[in-house]
Amino acid sequence: MRVIPYGRQDIDEADIAAVVETLRSDYLTQGPAVPRFEEAVQEATGARHAVAVNSATSALHIGCLAAGLGPGDLLWTSPTSFVASANCALYCGADVDFVDIDPKTYNLSVPLLAEKLVQAEQVGRLPKIVVPVHLTGQPADLAEIRELSRRYGFVVMEDASHAIGATYRGTRIGDNSFSDLCVMSFHPVKIVTTGEGGLVTTQDDDLASRLRRLRTHGITRDPAEMHREPAGPWYYEQIDLGLNYRMTDIHAALGTSQMKRLGEFVKRRREIAARYDELLAGLPLVLPHQEPDRESAWHLYVVRLKRDEMKRSHREVFEFLRARGLGVNLHYMPIPGQPYYEQLGFRASEYPEAVRYGQEAISIPMYSAMSDEDQDAVIGALGEAVT
Ligand SMILES: *Cc1c(COP(=O)(O)O)cnc(C)c1O
Repeated sequence: MRVIPYGRQDIDEADIAAVVETLRSDYLTQGPAVPRFEEAVQEATGARHAVAVNSATSALHIGCLAAGLGPGDLLWTSPTSFVASANCALYCGADVDFVDIDPKTYNLSVPLLAEKLVQAEQVGRLPKIVVPVHLTGQPADLAEIRELSRRYGFVVMEDASHAIGATYRGTRIGDNSFSDLCVMSFHPVKIVTTGEGGLVTTQDDDLASRLRRLRTHGITRDPAEMHREPAGPWYYEQIDLGLNYRMTDIHAALGTSQMKRLGEFVKRRREIAARYDELLAGLPLVLPHQEPDRESAWHLYVVRLKRDEMKRSHREVFEFLRARGLGVNLHYMPIPGQPYYEQLGFRASEYPEAVRYGQEAISIPMYSAMSDEDQDAVIGALGEAVT
């Protein structure tokens, strides 16, 4: 049986040629391809600085380190995200906490964030970083979060793993109009791929140089950053404790080639979303609510089951669709309900909207290379599953 996945890469001959060309070149890593990829992302997003790494998980980690997150500090994020959005705090020895989601957009709820900040200020336990996640590709309420960050002094690090190509109030995601740091993922199911890969954007020159050092062991070759006079042409200094999170030239070459089609990819995803909106409208489903002042990049198309209007349970609908060869998925189970987080004392039940979402949501196939026929097959099977 042919499976229609929930997401997959869109690779063309030019992408393949770009990778092969790199394999024949002088550099497989630390050559010219990574800066070229970073420039392509800067051009597409309007970012002042773009620092490419080997995954968005690594990008979140060095984003936290660059912002100075450490033991005793606190990072807040959304419970409805991939675990990496929260794990990055724990890697730094810091603590994490969650703010429940908005029932309409499924992004971090600003009223709940504001309320939690009031309480946190009273007990002297304000977060150092807040990570809004642009779930499915629809930007979170960035202007309101930015205003709160000015009042309470926290760093805003966007998790834009789903959202390259999205816009918010006329600005592009990645240009840091409302954030200090913005993280992107180039995993194959995301909008643009490098195989594995991630990137951080920032407008802040100091954060950018710290990010560049942290991705390669904390080493600098810039005399302006050194503690001593360079002793000779071999000389470099390690001035931070960094990691090896470098992206290779092979991955970057694929990414640069893919970036040429970012506009095309997002346009096709918007077409698919509009067609789902139209053809699923009669079914007992809550279709994705979109705020008028922002445009999603449509990494995912998530429907929620109106469970009291159908015979099958959430699980049964999943099993029905999987049996028909549809790679439907759930993005995401609440992070605080994961066994690792439960053992840290978290309970999913403290985030009732995230729990409800996890009991009703289904990501249905959405990727730029999906044909109309495949989309029709998804619509037909979903119609059978829920009626
Ligand atoms: C995919 C994803 C990540 C992690 O990305 P990798 O590049 O696979 O490390 C982080 N956050 C969110 C919201 C994601 O969807």
